[in-house]
Amino acid sequence: MEQTLVIIKPVAVHRGLIGEVITRFERKGLFIIGMKMMQLDEQILREHYAHLTSKPFFPDLLKSMMATPVIVMCIEGKDAVEVVRLMTGATNGRKALPGTIRGDLSMSGQENVVHASDSIDNAKIELARFFKPGEILAYKPSDFRFYYAPD
Ligand code: UDP
Repeated sequence: MEQTLVIIKPVAVHRGLIGEVITRFERKGLFIIGMKMMQLDEQILREHYAHLTSKPFFPDLLKSMMATPVIVMCIEGKDAVEVVRLMTGATNGRKALPGTIRGDLSMSGQENVVHASDSIDNAKIELARFFKPGEILAYKPSDFRFYYAPD
């Protein structure tokens, strides 16, 4: 089982899409084992988006990510990092395939509804950045076998 970080971005909070995004992950058979609302600040965003700080769009990205509080979730499941990235879709909402979260809910390159960790290593780093010890909880649904059987 893997764990990955999803951030429901301010655009989704603003547009009333929090439930829609959570529902998609729940229906897929992934488990939310940590979730909270938090206001991001420049310091955490400079760490989180360190690979983008020199880009011309970075000031706008900062503003966009601080516009409202966000929802951060730790999502667990088999191959969760890859599955969640596939469900998220390409970065630009206009290029993301229909059926993906961004493909169905975004027309923007920046306001693309969710963030999802892009590798197992980054998921570990990002979960540690956004969650304190004790905020990620270990539990399994009682009918777990229905989700992943037979492999
Ligand atoms: N972004 C943007 N303009 C771009 C590329 C990215 O505003 O040309 C924003 C967008 O919100 C994206 C975030 O920066 O989700 C992080 O970019 P990254 O390349 O890491 O893509 P992601 O992993 O989010 O698909």
